[in-house]
Amino acid sequence: MAARLSIAIAGGSIGGLTAGVLLHELGHDVHIYERSHAALESRGAGIVVLPMTERYFTERGGEDDRVSLELPWWKYVDAAGIELSADLDHFRFSSWNTVYRALLEAFPADRYHLGNELTGFEQTATGVTIGFAEGTTTEAELLVCADGVSSTARRILLPQVDPAYAGYVAWRGTAAESGLSSPAVSDLADSMLYQVLKPGHILVYAIPGVDGSIQPGRRLQNFVWYRNYPAGGPLEELMTDRHGEARTSSVPPGFVQDQHLAEMKAAAAGLAPTIREVVLASPEPFVQVIFDLEVSQMAFGRVCIMGDAAFSARPHVAAGTAKAAADAWALRDALRDRGDNLAAALEEWQRSQLTLGRSVVERSRAMGQRSQFEGTMVAGDPGWKFGLFEARN
Ligand SMILES: Cc1cc2nc3c(=O)[nH]c(=O)nc-3n(C[C@H](O)[C@H](O)[C@H](O)COP(=O)(O)OP(=O)(O)OC[C@H]3O[C@@H](n4cnc5c(N)ncnc54)[C@H](O)[C@@H]3O)c2cc1C
Repeated sequence: MAARLSIAIAGGSIGGLTAGVLLHELGHDVHIYERSHAALESRGAGIVVLPMTERYFTERGGEDDRVSLELPWWKYVDAAGIELSADLDHFRFSSWNTVYRALLEAFPADRYHLGNELTGFEQTATGVTIGFAEGTTTEAELLVCADGVSSTARRILLPQVDPAYAGYVAWRGTAAESGLSSPAVSDLADSMLYQVLKPGHILVYAIPGVDGSIQPGRRLQNFVWYRNYPAGGPLEELMTDRHGEARTSSVPPGFVQDQHLAEMKAAAAGLAPTIREVVLASPEPFVQVIFDLEVSQMAFGRVCIMGDAAFSARPHVAAGTAKAAADAWALRDALRDRGDNLAAALEEWQRSQLTLGRSVVERSRAMGQRSQFEGTMVAGDPGWKFGLFEARN
């Protein structure tokens, strides 16, 4: 290995943790600084898991170390619940919590610092001084910013770049499988269900239970329902939580106003019976705004931005965590191969990851336009598949 670097990572979610684990294993002196004061356990939502998201676990331990469950079937149903198509796709699914917990276990606890919000940094030819909201500072030779779609680092480095509202949000929630009816349990046993709506679409899939269990009956069923809200009034109303606070990117579980919950539940009358049952059985539905975000630069001297901080794609390709992980793996490779020349390593890394980021954002934007605004998404569409590098991969 080239010189051992001191590396600070801002943001301790899936992107920051994957980078932390890989760079620590490469022998660097890594510390992760996460804004949240408490462990991030409560982000219970489901995620589709592409190979890159769990690459660390499959390379380390193979099948036994996986952090996801497999659903063989991808099915489309109509409003009456009649099956319109069924593809044997074998995609994998998990929860944000399950992946986060497994990564956290692989990273030394004394190097993961909660309650540290990066607010600024200054770099010289030899290092970076990083400032936190609490008034403390730390020094590092490399600062990796994995601080998400509202990234403070990106706002400092690229103040002209802002996430662009896609015109719709995702209503999300999870319901305990144990509380669902037998027909619903049977429909969802080994299948992800999609329903195309006019406009929009909804999908339901199983994820591990709160304790990580993937046993049928102990899993959760997760829904993601894409609904259009014009920018301005309607979106602002939805994003004002039950305490009157205006939110920008999500209204968390328990914070959505009753009137919006009631409207969403009433609209669920148009959903297929099994899908409707999951939506109505979810105790605390929540809302995430869908954005497009692209940057033209990811490396800035001794500072770089990665994951959603750099590119945020609409979730239709289900590649957000995979792309964050891919940024981390590529950074590991660049530092391993060119660690004697940090500038060259980051330049090489940036070149490949900008290309990847652009392609994911472009592909997911086209899918979102079709489903939400053009009405050209159809049941069984072979082009509508999850994937980071291409459909299915
Ligand atoms: C509706 C929806 C569905 C999705 N479905 C999927 C899916 O099925 N599969 C998939 O792979 N992806 C999915 N995604 C995308 C995925 O959630 C993100 O792409 C992924 O979480 C990005 O990881 P990240 O580590 O880059 O950023 P984030 O997960 O956003 O983490 C950023 C971290 O930085 C911390 N932070 C923020 N500011 C600071 C600061 N100033 N200092 C220190 N820390 C800070 C935050 O607290 C947070 O922990 C979905 C997204 C949405 C909205």
